[in-house]
Amino acid sequence: MNIHEYQAKELLKTYGVSVPVGGVAYSDQQAARVAEDIGGHRWVVKAQIHAGGRGKAGGVKVVNSIDDLKKAVDAMIGTRLVTHQTGPDGSLVQRVWIEQASAIQKEFYLGFVIDRGTQRITLIASSEGGMDIEEVAREQPEKIIHEVIDPAIGLLDFQCRKVATAIGLKGKRMPQAVKLMKAIYRCMRDRDALQAEINPLALVGDGDGQLMVLDAKFNFDDNALYRQKAVTEMRDLAEEDPKEVEASGHGLNYIALDGNIGCIVNGAGLAMASLDAITLHGGRPANFLDVGGGASPEKVTNACRIVLEDPNVRCILVNIFAGINRCDWIATGLIQACNSLKIQVPLIVRLAGTNVEEGRKILAESGLSFITAENLDDAAAKAVATAQG
Ligand code: ADP
Ligand code: MG
Repeated sequence: MNIHEYQAKELLKTYGVSVPVGGVAYSDQQAARVAEDIGGHRWVVKAQIHAGGRGKAGGVKVVNSIDDLKKAVDAMIGTRLVTHQTGPDGSLVQRVWIEQASAIQKEFYLGFVIDRGTQRITLIASSEGGMDIEEVAREQPEKIIHEVIDPAIGLLDFQCRKVATAIGLKGKRMPQAVKLMKAIYRCMRDRDALQAEINPLALVGDGDGQLMVLDAKFNFDDNALYRQKAVTEMRDLAEEDPKEVEASGHGLNYIALDGNIGCIVNGAGLAMASLDAITLHGGRPANFLDVGGGASPEKVTNACRIVLEDPNVRCILVNIFAGINRCDWIATGLIQACNSLKIQVPLIVRLAGTNVEEGRKILAESGLSFITAENLDDAAAKAVATAQG
């Protein structure tokens, strides 16, 4: 789960990390009040969407007057911001964050990611902040520092000093850098984050300056949300795929894909295998959908409805290997769905496992035309032929 930049900054602030003073606004009027409240004479207007690359796309604007601030806010709110991370449709800007503009001396990069190879959190740092870290990794790989953190003892001072030195944070900046790195790591650990990215971490002000987090991005472990109430409350459903949100509300695991064969399967493993089988036969799945165990007729009907909300779907492959599930429930659910949703596309159904005979009988006696399949391979072949026909 992702959160907005301003939420990440508010979270980091509670760990003693320096961030610019700011406030959220949903309109130009509100933004003007925020700017007057926080004071100063230069502000930054920042579009709050769950994607980076906003600076280059017009989603970060420095302004010198309340009039310009209002204009910048007005131009951002309600538009779809397209950055290299949003995809061509962009993301709708519903709120902006207004903060005091800092006088930047230099920008750095700090990231904490889980490295699957070492199974540890790795601190990644670079003196080349503010830009795309992928680009730095490609063109100047020597400018990227890695430091692996032992989960049993945490991030140690000497490691922070090593990283700080390597990116050029020496002298008076060193103790501040050490404190900041440790605070971000602690925050990540406490909140079950999978990733924390600070880009840029900036040296601001005059003389020796001060380190400040100007942009922060966090990604949290969905499986840990049950014990992270404060994190869960920061969830912005408007940033997520509405079909995926609706599906999770019904206890269904749905992920939209770009093909034309809808899929309703029980179990994530079988669902993945079904997508593979479709692809093997030359077709393209429209979605991943795991109905889970104990799929009641209502759940099956909801699954059909969500799959059919995708206008590209030309047929639906239903692949059930019932263990905890029961084929008769699935069959009843499919008939209910056909009747209540007036389904126009063909359904290819493969049932196996618990109560399979009852399930098949229910389908056969329904008077509706299902295309039945013997096994996964047969089902995938029939689905692909139907979608192409
Ligand atoms: P994104 O990563 O989405 O492009 P950032 O928040 O990193 O957005 O902003 C892009 C750039 O804008 C930063 O690299 C920095 O140079 C500048 N910037 C961001 N916030 C401030 C601020 N408070 N004061 C001055 N400059 C800022
Ligand atoms: Mg950034």
